Amino acid sequence: MHSWRESCGIFGVYAPDEDVARLTFFALFALQHRGQESAGIATADGKRVRVHTGMGLVSQAFDEDALGRLGGSIAIGHNRYSTTGSSSPNNAQPILLNGHPGAIALGHNGNIVNAAYLRQELAELGYGFHTSTDSEVIADLILSSPGQTWVDKIRYAMRRLQGAYSLVIMTKDALIGVRGSLGVRPLCLGALDGGWVLASESCALDHIGAHFLREVEPGEVVLIDAGGVESFKEPSSRQALCIFEYIYFARPDSVINGRLLYQAREAMGGALAREYPVEADMVVGVPDSATVASIGYARQSGIDLSEALLKNRYVGRTFIEPDQRIRELGVKLKFNPLPGVLEGKRLVLVDDSIVRGTTTPRVIGLLRRAGAAEVHMRICAPPIRYPCFFGVDMATRWELIASQKSVSEIRDFIGADSLGYLSLEGLIEAVTLPRDILCLACFTGDYPIPVQLEMDKLALETMPATQESA
Ligand code: AMP
Repeated sequence: MHSWRESCGIFGVYAPDEDVARLTFFALFALQHRGQESAGIATADGKRVRVHTGMGLVSQAFDEDALGRLGGSIAIGHNRYSTTGSSSPNNAQPILLNGHPGAIALGHNGNIVNAAYLRQELAELGYGFHTSTDSEVIADLILSSPGQTWVDKIRYAMRRLQGAYSLVIMTKDALIGVRGSLGVRPLCLGALDGGWVLASESCALDHIGAHFLREVEPGEVVLIDAGGVESFKEPSSRQALCIFEYIYFARPDSVINGRLLYQAREAMGGALAREYPVEADMVVGVPDSATVASIGYARQSGIDLSEALLKNRYVGRTFIEPDQRIRELGVKLKFNPLPGVLEGKRLVLVDDSIVRGTTTPRVIGLLRRAGAAEVHMRICAPPIRYPCFFGVDMATRWELIASQKSVSEIRDFIGADSLGYLSLEGLIEAVTLPRDILCLACFTGDYPIPVQLEMDKLALETMPATQESA
């Protein structure tokens, strides 16, 4: 029940002359890879805030009727990513809250480390909770904060929030984008004919005909209303942009911190080929997450690239399956190897990461049964030894295979002929960003802020949810 660990997709649009609900619907499609558990859109028309959420993919959560009922000139949208369990409709976002200054809707990407503490404090002040998410804690904290304007309240709340958060917030007449001071999760600002947009990733802007203006900066609040765009800054002492956005999470056609993900991943593959060369007949990437890196490996090594592993794109990511047994079946449901292409061949198999070590042995097994003679595994990241507390679900420390086994033990466990993990230096070079603005804690254990390593992930789940709102 890791319900409060989320890395989600968020979007917002302020465009009085557009069908903002439909634009948000299409933007959420572009951000679908960031979350498949539930989807939701909230709209405002200057007087009222409306919200519609549903379980599953964007296409399952919305139909014409639902979109038609939303209307308005401002919208925010959210795709929720959940890991194991807690697929509760209650936890779908945006969340809508009615407080003293009026209603707000909020969508959150990230994870608040001190949420349990803040929730306790808010409960003592009389705030009730309907969900087990830290996002509701953020919304209540904003409502309870002193200040004349929403921006004042948000800035006050930001000083108390610890961890990772990018937010889209909508009041009845304004759209507000917020990026936590560490800047762990991405958020960008774009322009549309007669309007403005905010999105987790720039690929969402491309699809709806908006153009990228800039990243929302760590510690920045962007207020968008009839007066245009206004920016406010909270101090940011340390930046910690999540490296996993580059390795796995974001789409290759997105640009984060000036770096096109496609180029970063291609460079990771190239660096892997330099660090771990091997005699082989073909390079195969595990689709889709390692496709680009496999291109980089093939180009650098001069070994042919082959699509010998086909992916059924309509089966969701293995991680969203609720238990280990279904997850294991999931790999087979997802991938189909090509025996005619693989027979007797020595493969370099490229993947983005090994987390629990569930997927890799199964993929290698499929390839061997289809006739592969050798499988040389190459991973675009160093061994993941430490859990993430900032929004990427990576299991607890004891579930992380690299925290339990050495590289040679992992090689034997996954059934590979050889195993090479990209070095930390190789990875940092590939993303072309200074090391000190990145969060590399999953590899190094050096967290950007102190975290309680054995933090109880069920803390919010086990607190009673009350039914009355504050
Ligand atoms: P595992 O089976 O636990 O080793 O998972 C590794 C696979 O899951 C990799 O091939 C990734 O493509 C994918 N993956 C890595 N991190 C995540 C994540 N946080 N959420 C969902 N999938 C992930």
